[in-house]
Amino acid sequence: MIIPKEPKLTVEQLSAVTAIVEEYDCKLQVIIGHHRSVYAVLGEERKTVMVNRILGLDFIDRFDAVDSPFKLMDSSSELAQHKIVLGNHIVGEGPFVIAGHCTIDPKNPNLFIESAHAVKEAGAKAIRGGVWKPRTMPYSFQGDDASVKILMEARSQTGLPVDTEVMDEHQLRIAVEAGVDILQVGARNALNYSLLKSIGQMTQNKKIAVLLKRSMGMGPVNEFIAAAEYIAAAGNPDIMLCPRGTNPTMDGYRNYPDESITPLLKEKTWAPVIVDPCHSVGRAKYVPSAALAAIAYGADGVIIESHLDPQKGIGDDPKQSIKPAVLKQLITDIEAIWAIKNRIVLADN
Ligand code: PEP
Ligand code: MN
Repeated sequence: MIIPKEPKLTVEQLSAVTAIVEEYDCKLQVIIGHHRSVYAVLGEERKTVMVNRILGLDFIDRFDAVDSPFKLMDSSSELAQHKIVLGNHIVGEGPFVIAGHCTIDPKNPNLFIESAHAVKEAGAKAIRGGVWKPRTMPYSFQGDDASVKILMEARSQTGLPVDTEVMDEHQLRIAVEAGVDILQVGARNALNYSLLKSIGQMTQNKKIAVLLKRSMGMGPVNEFIAAAEYIAAAGNPDIMLCPRGTNPTMDGYRNYPDESITPLLKEKTWAPVIVDPCHSVGRAKYVPSAALAAIAYGADGVIIESHLDPQKGIGDDPKQSIKPAVLKQLITDIEAIWAIKNRIVLADN
């Protein structure tokens, strides 16, 4: 939409603008208002060179694009009805709870397998387990390629899909070859566009979903959706958006809780939202409330760190994993909030 400085373009100005847009295979439509006229560009209106040339004309005030920049992720795009199927769950139809250890301890595989069975029994629909970990200190445990086998063993014993974070192409290749169902892009890599592109390319048509975390520094919601657009544009639209708390932190919490952005995301994009309350609040005792808040805001599910014996865990498990018994009660409560939320939505329509 072109807005001139004066209430309308002169005949000469109109023909100058028309000549430019036609060079880029677009058409100009004049919208005559009571006080002023505006000029809609019909066609691919985001061509940078065309926009810059129009903005370079000294009688033009603004160029407001009306097309969404998100060709694939926008809620009105052709993918608006796209559904992600994981195991026997269609994401969006009933709460999707992913649960399991923050980190798989390769020295204690049985503990992970036991937790996997326990979270399944508690009602989880998928299992998480960090094979590779992004750690603040280079001397902390970084994960182990060998843990992929343990993750896949949990998959075959429980029959549930599994989730793990990948941080580079080496890990991506191993995870894809092993048959991991959900690849997590962590908060630290949510702006790593090369990785996002590689993930989109390598998971194309493989029925592998991507859980894209919100980066801790991400402000505008559009920046988050743009990161998802990278993955979709590279070939895989099976993307779930995961708010996980941002910086600066809230005093007493690990990050600044951001489950409240869920309705904003749902307005702009069709992608399901799976909130991570554990990395947001960072303390096991606050996790259930944050998870319920996420569902009340309209999230399609949550990803929860859960461990049979958190004090024996590594990574984040000792501080923010909830026990499977707590998870079981939480999932019952999530189902209740889900029903209330759906009632509100139905009443709204
Ligand atoms: C995790 O899920 O264990 C993790 C490291 O998450 P984030 O990328 O959100 O910090
Ligand atoms: Mn963690």
